[in-house]
Order: sequence, then structure tokens, then C-alpha cells
Amino acid sequence: MHGDVQNLVIAGSGVAGLSAAVYAARADLDPLVLEGDEPGGQLTLTTDVENFLGFPEGVGGMELIQRGKQQAERFGATFEHGRIDAADLEGRPFELSLSTGETIRTRALVVATGASARWVGAENEEALMGYGLSTCATCDGAFHRGDDVLVIGGGDSAMEEALFLTRFADSVTVVHRREELRASEIMAERALDHEDIEFRWNTELQTIHGSQEEGVTGATLVSHPDGYPKEKAADGVDVETETVDIGGVFYGVGHTPNTGFLEGTGVELDADGYILPETDENGRPTAETGVDGVFAAGDVADPNYRQAITSAGTGSMAALDAEDYLESIEESAEQTLQATV
Ligand code: NAP
Repeated sequence: MHGDVQNLVIAGSGVAGLSAAVYAARADLDPLVLEGDEPGGQLTLTTDVENFLGFPEGVGGMELIQRGKQQAERFGATFEHGRIDAADLEGRPFELSLSTGETIRTRALVVATGASARWVGAENEEALMGYGLSTCATCDGAFHRGDDVLVIGGGDSAMEEALFLTRFADSVTVVHRREELRASEIMAERALDHEDIEFRWNTELQTIHGSQEEGVTGATLVSHPDGYPKEKAADGVDVETETVDIGGVFYGVGHTPNTGFLEGTGVELDADGYILPETDENGRPTAETGVDGVFAAGDVADPNYRQAITSAGTGSMAALDAEDYLESIEESAEQTLQATV
């Protein structure tokens, strides 16, 4: 068991967690930030961030995170490795069991655990993840100089990965399961207009070929003119199958919120596992969750906007709400004490 009862634990060290940490530390709440499995969150996997206010020339994702951490530490936030595996949010203080084997008790909790990259369910993906199959072009793109690579997905992530990979790969082919991109207009245009990016519409990745020794060597693709070929094949519809030689596969098919430890705790989750924050008595947004003293910030509660700047905003909301909550329990503890003397 970790020593004293903490005032405020912030789970997650991406933009949302760091923003909450800066606000909470400045309010003298002595926050403890649990860095999670992906310290720094998704921005550490991004190259340039061009739309974060105050950086007219853009800023590196990693740099933005490092600066945020320094800022939080300057005001007294502390950081520790570990992920929450289980949470008992019924009693007070809350009890958090960490992946490190430790247990931490805390009066308040900000959940800023973000969302993790999804996999597509292709044959062989488990064996080849990290061996030519990747969910992060900015991390692994440089290993694919001169390769022909596939990018799976039709959203902004897939477009960003494809554009980045043109720096290294010989050819980049985006494989999308229907014939319309989900990506924003500007990102879609950049990718569609790029001479080194090709598109395979109405196509899905069925199998990745290769081994951990050789890396990725090929892929089997299935396609159907009406899209969603895997679903069609499962329904017994004929689909076209083709095997291509390639040296790398990148997944850009979205994310799943990291809320497994909240199931059954009273924190309300939507059908996809995202936290549903509460509104106040006037119907306005808050960072509160279904459990008093637990607050949500960033992508873990946001399947729609998912921007660094909105995560920073909800991080500050969570810290401000946590500050109010901690003040209110202190006041009621004082009143109880006065009533008993
Ligand atoms: P997303 O918008 O949810 O797109 C996921 C894409 O993957 C969709 O095209 C989806 O196809 C496809 N997909 C999902 N599961 C699949 C599967 N099993 N097999 C094949 N394809 C599959 O996710 P995202 O691209 O990560 O973007 C998330 C949010 O972050 C968005 O709001 C986006 O604007 C933002 N973002 C912004 C930037 C930027 O501005 N630089 C960069 C990255 C992300 P369908 O279209 O058929 O559903």
C-alpha cells in the first residue's frame, strides 16, 4: 500500500492529464499523476501539431508534452509509473490497484486515460505487430525506407500516416473499406492530391504475410464494389481476393477508450466504453462522472472532438471540479467535527 492518502490522483499523462495536473498543482492540491502505459499519450506519436493555439509555426507533439510535464512539475505535481488495473470507488478514500502491484488511496480521481489504437482483426496481426506491422507511422515509418507499404483506414489518422510515410516508403497505398473517406476535407485533399499515395477503395486487409524474422512480406486483400468486403464474405457473398507484396502495414483505424477498470464502478460509460460526464443543474457540461469525486478529461470521454486543445480544456475543467469537490468534503468534515465537540 502506497503511504498516505493522496488528495488527487490523475490517471494519464497525455495533454488532458497534464493540463489537469497544472491546474491542480497551482491550486495546491498536490496531484499525483500516474503516467499509464503510453506516457505522454497520443501526441508523443505525432510529428507537428499545427493547430494548438499559441504556436504559429507549429510545435512537435513530444515537445508540447515535455513542456507540459515541466510546467506541472514546476507547480509541484509528482509523476509515477503505472496503470490502474482495478478501482474500488465505493468507499472513501478510493482504492486504486496499479499494474506495478501497488495500491493507492485517494480522495479524488481524474480519469484522463485516453484511448488506444484499434487493430483490424487481420490474420497474423498479433504475431507481426512490431515486426513490420505498426499503429504509429511517426514511430516506425523510418524503418520502411524503400518499402511498399499499406495504410489501413479512411480517417484523419490514416491520411496523416500515409502522408508521413511518403517520406520513406517507395509507395504508399491507403486501403479503405468503402469508397468515401471519413477524414476532414483538408487532410483528405492532401492525401488524394499526393502523387505517391494510391487508394484501394472498398477493400479490406484479410491476412498479413511474413514472420518475426523476415518482417512483413505481403498481404491478402479482399474487395467488393459495394464496400465492407469482409462482412460480405462472412455472409457468403463472393468477394475478390488479391495477394500483394509489401514490406509494411500501418493501422490507422481509430481508438478504443481505456476504461476497462471503470466497468461496474458506477462511472457511466457509453456503448463504446467512453465515459459519459454529467451535466450541471442547468444542463451545462461538467467533468463530473456518475461517482462523486471522480472526474473525466480528454479523449476518454470524447469520441467526437478528440483534439489536443479540447483535451487541454477538459483537463482544466476536471481539475477545477476536483478542487470544488475537495473543498466541499473538507467543509463537511469540519462541520461534522464541530457538531461532535
Ligand atoms: P476515425 O475518424 O474513427 O476513423 C477510423 C477509420 O478507420 C474510418 O475510416 C473507419 O472506416 C476505419 N476503420 C475502423 N475500423 C476498421 C476496421 N476494423 N477495418 C477497416 N477499417 C476500419 O479515427 P481517426 O482517424 O483516428 O480520427 C479520430 C479523431 O481524431 C477524428 O476526430 C480526427 O479528426 C482526429 N484526428 C485529427 C488529426 C489532424 O487533424 N491532424 C489527425 C488524426 C486524428 P469507416 O469510415 O468506414 O467507419
